[in-house]
Amino acid sequence: MPSPASLTVDLNALAHNFHALEAASGAPVHPVVKADSYGLGATPVARRLMAEGARTFFVARAAEGVALRAALGPDPALYVLDGCHGDAAGDLKAADLRPILNQPVQLETWRAAGGGACGLQIDTGMSRLGFRPEDAPEPFEGLDLVMSHLACADAPADSLNRRQRDAFAGISAKYPGASVSFSNSGGCFMGADFAFDAVRPGICLYGGGPEGRPDDRIKPVATLSAEVVQVRLVPKGETVGYSAGWTAPRDSTIAIVAAGYADGVLRAYSPRGKVWLADALRPIVGRVSMDVIAVDVTDADVAVGDLCEIYGPNRNIDDQATAAGTIAYELLTSINPRVPRVYVG
Ligand SMILES: *Cc1c(COP(=O)(O)O)cnc(C)c1O
Repeated sequence: MPSPASLTVDLNALAHNFHALEAASGAPVHPVVKADSYGLGATPVARRLMAEGARTFFVARAAEGVALRAALGPDPALYVLDGCHGDAAGDLKAADLRPILNQPVQLETWRAAGGGACGLQIDTGMSRLGFRPEDAPEPFEGLDLVMSHLACADAPADSLNRRQRDAFAGISAKYPGASVSFSNSGGCFMGADFAFDAVRPGICLYGGGPEGRPDDRIKPVATLSAEVVQVRLVPKGETVGYSAGWTAPRDSTIAIVAAGYADGVLRAYSPRGKVWLADALRPIVGRVSMDVIAVDVTDADVAVGDLCEIYGPNRNIDDQATAAGTIAYELLTSINPRVPRVYVG
């Protein structure tokens, strides 16, 4: 059954971004495909990236890794950023997943389950996941990856980036047998000494800029679009939407578009959001509701069935996110499963 809203994923643009990240960092790209590839669909995304040369992927949760292993077969190395929780070791091993061990108890659990291929995260200044440097274990069998994560990758000038990088260079030297990975998307653009053995970008693969704003090196990948389902005249003085949030300042033509916050059009787009419709950016009027938005198309030629672009090539996802007071990551991961993902390229 056709859906009035859809998310189109441009796999050629994804491939472009993959190679752009390789070129920028000078290192192999090990894509982060957690949260269903930021909502775009982990299996089709990973398959295309494998065709482009990727052989190692990162997910966040063990269950994501189990699903991806079933879809991709035995070839790629799959790391689980969460590590090894509770009694998950058996499931991890059964699916040939490599946990990133983040704290001493995880290392003990993994060893007690017989150990095997795994990674180690060292916290170098984000105070999130990872061993503190002084608690970092001695090299051990099975350890094939040592990584850390930047706290301020979207702000290249922040001095914490260099401090984290230098701390990591020191501690990772302790593990000569392991591959070394440091940079996410932002770090890919910070120069050769941030690259180490492999980089771990996510958002830039999916069309977000490394600094949270549009970047020429990164092509848009995701287009969220929805059909106009009604066009109505709203006389001057009448109101539109919940809480009567907008009053027509003149006789207005309003297009009702079939996408709301359940489709990833965050309610925070009200009251100043804009969408691309009839060849221009036009204001959303009134509140975003769950299934629809109202767009002021006065003086434009708009009919039922016309397509409205929430973000995509004409409305950059970073600009849309900024207008809503958030980041592209949240826009992409907020799209309900009812929105079909359509793949092109
Ligand atoms: C999510 C994540 C990444 C990817 O980050 P982007 O900013 O999307 O490039 C890399 N490493 C770790 C540890 C992560 O959690």
